[in-house]
Amino acid sequence: MQLPRLTTPTLAVAGSADRFPVRRIYCVGLNYADHAREMGNDPKRDPPFFFSKPSDAVVDSGAHLPFPVHTANLHHEVELVVALGAAGANVKSDHASALIFGYAVGIDLTRRDLQAAAKKTGRPWDMAKGFDHSAPIGPLALGIPPATAPISLSVDGQVRQSGDLADMIWQVPEIIASLSTFVALAPGDLIFTGTPSGVGPIAPGQWLHGSIGSIDPIDVCFE
Ligand code: MN
Repeated sequence: MQLPRLTTPTLAVAGSADRFPVRRIYCVGLNYADHAREMGNDPKRDPPFFFSKPSDAVVDSGAHLPFPVHTANLHHEVELVVALGAAGANVKSDHASALIFGYAVGIDLTRRDLQAAAKKTGRPWDMAKGFDHSAPIGPLALGIPPATAPISLSVDGQVRQSGDLADMIWQVPEIIASLSTFVALAPGDLIFTGTPSGVGPIAPGQWLHGSIGSIDPIDVCFE
């Protein structure tokens, strides 16, 4: 047998034929107070906590996705995704924006039933969060994300999640600064920054549409 040849997962870049190479995907949990409450938590300003997804979980807008196995409760979480174009460790928050290449709308797909079971037993979230096709992300807009912009998600045209980036407990520079104390950040890293309230189940055949302000949206459907 030959050695495998691997391909680097990539994201679309708005207005360009270039593709952004993905190195790692980090995610922030419970970063909007109203979502923390709906998950049964008290939204305190505890330091942010992080989990991750495999880089090849990324999916382009327009994809028809196989409905995930091992779940009867697949949830959508619309999120601002930040893409890094520069490296940094122990970054100060007032310097953190210098690492940002661009930003996009992403959906942190979650097998909520597996996550609930993992929480109950103190086991890892990997199979609840890091499954195949679990990170649909729209085309990257270049530059630094706005501190304020509407963020929303609809299912078959019906609005399920609606919030504003200004409602994040930890803003993007603070997230980058905190994460960079745990791991060295590098070009190609993506950070999902948390979801507003309204997360809920997806059924086979449904279309998801996620948007932030006027940047390119994310649209995916499940077979
Ligand atoms: Mn999330």
